Amino acid sequence: MKTVVIGGGPSGMMAAISASSKGDNVILLEKENSLGKKLLITGKGRCNITSSLPMSEFINNIQGNGKFLFSCFQEFTNQDIINLLRKNGLEVKNERGNRIFPVTDSAKSVLDCFIKELKEKNVNVRTNCEVTEIKVENEEVTRSIP
Ligand SMILES: Cc1cc2nc3c(=O)[nH]c(=O)nc-3n(C[C@H](O)[C@H](O)[C@H](O)COP(=O)(O)OP(=O)(O)OC[C@H]3O[C@@H](n4cnc5c(N)ncnc54)[C@H](O)[C@@H]3O)c2cc1C
Repeated sequence: MKTVVIGGGPSGMMAAISASSKGDNVILLEKENSLGKKLLITGKGRCNITSSLPMSEFINNIQGNGKFLFSCFQEFTNQDIINLLRKNGLEVKNERGNRIFPVTDSAKSVLDCFIKELKEKNVNVRTNCEVTEIKVENEEVTRSIP
């Protein structure tokens, strides 16, 4: 199966990693000249990766309809993201307020892990590629047009 992911932020990168892990042939399209630009400014450049709270408490800390995320939180937990970063050589630390940061204090080291994982999974990453239209024929996506 061919999967096209639009947007190379944390969500798109994880979607691409996840789809390729299941055997899909994945293309990731990003309009900027590099992946994860916003990720680089998170946590004042340090990236507050996740929380060390048990997953059962995540929903209580989400404004609005937190229950909507219940199944996502079962599927992919705070420990799963920590394991993914560790697998790519990045350790994390726990700071006050249950906040998890990379030991490097650098959001770039988090982005580097995603990029490493995308390479390992053979995801075809195309930057400078803005999707402007999605073609649907007979209720099937036939093309995304950069
Ligand atoms: C100042 C600041 C600090 C933050 N700190 C933290 C933190 O410490 N911890 C935390 O968890 N969250 C933090 N956040 C929130 C975090 O940045 C977002 O939750 C996260 O970036 C969302 O990821 P995303 O992939 O959904 O979207 P984005 O990061 O916005 O990525 C979307 C990507 O899609 C691309 N794109 C958009 N349209 C198209 C198109 N048509 N074609 C191709 N590509 C396209 C964009 O260029 C972009 O790269 C912070 C946010 C800000 C603004």
